[in-house]
Amino acid sequence: MADTEKRKDPEKIGRGRMWREYRNEVLAALAIIVVVIGVAFWVNNFFYGFDPTEIAIRDTTVQNGEKKEPAKAEFKQSDDWRLILVNRDHPLEEEYSGELTELRYGQSVDSRIYPDLQAMFDEMRADGLSPKVSEGYRSREDQAQKLSDKIEDYISYGKSREEATELALARVEEPGTCEHETGMCVDISSEEEDNESSSEVWKWMDENGSRYGFIKRYPYDKSDITGIKGEPWHYRYVGAEAAEEIMEKGITLEEYLGAAPRSGRSD
Ligand SMILES: [Zn+2]
Repeated sequence: MADTEKRKDPEKIGRGRMWREYRNEVLAALAIIVVVIGVAFWVNNFFYGFDPTEIAIRDTTVQNGEKKEPAKAEFKQSDDWRLILVNRDHPLEEEYSGELTELRYGQSVDSRIYPDLQAMFDEMRADGLSPKVSEGYRSREDQAQKLSDKIEDYISYGKSREEATELALARVEEPGTCEHETGMCVDISSEEEDNESSSEVWKWMDENGSRYGFIKRYPYDKSDITGIKGEPWHYRYVGAEAAEEIMEKGITLEEYLGAAPRSGRSD
């Protein structure tokens, strides 16, 4: 039989013999490889799940053969008080308890931002504008009231409570997630509060506010990141260094701080 095969194709016979001789070993080796890969995946899945980015993050936790605490993928607030991030994904853990300074029209802001705010308004007024803070610090209770008023509004238009709540939450932030609760942001308009003169104030702010530490917090084209539809009147204090970089690069506070983009709003 070997002779017949030899005449047909010598090379094939050689492979045939090799295969017969080593078949068991090869099959055993393949079986071991499959089992090892299977076990590795199962172990990985069991402990970590199959998210490749998570696995990559966790892999970096083993350094010099020592097992360290898993790196947290979550965002960590900056130690710099000026850079606190507040949005739906990052609510304020504790209610504001700092010192407030009352402004001309009854609003108030965190006392630490007041000197820069005042200096900025002085320069704006010297440039012939008449800026006004229409909203500053808002307590958690006021925010809760604002939300519940909005829900009642929608109910009075005939919506169910569930629908009304959903609609209201698309426009009013949940207590604890509103930046106004930090006392470090201001809604600005002109004293006349009409659109034309207010637009001039906002234009001035967009060009000059960062020198005093203020950024345009919710640009229209960044709503997918901030989760808030454009609010040209809303400015946030972050300090001049961060503000100048943020405004120059045209980024958001979320991007500046490396916080994951939050989920957008429903509408
Ligand atoms: Zn605002």
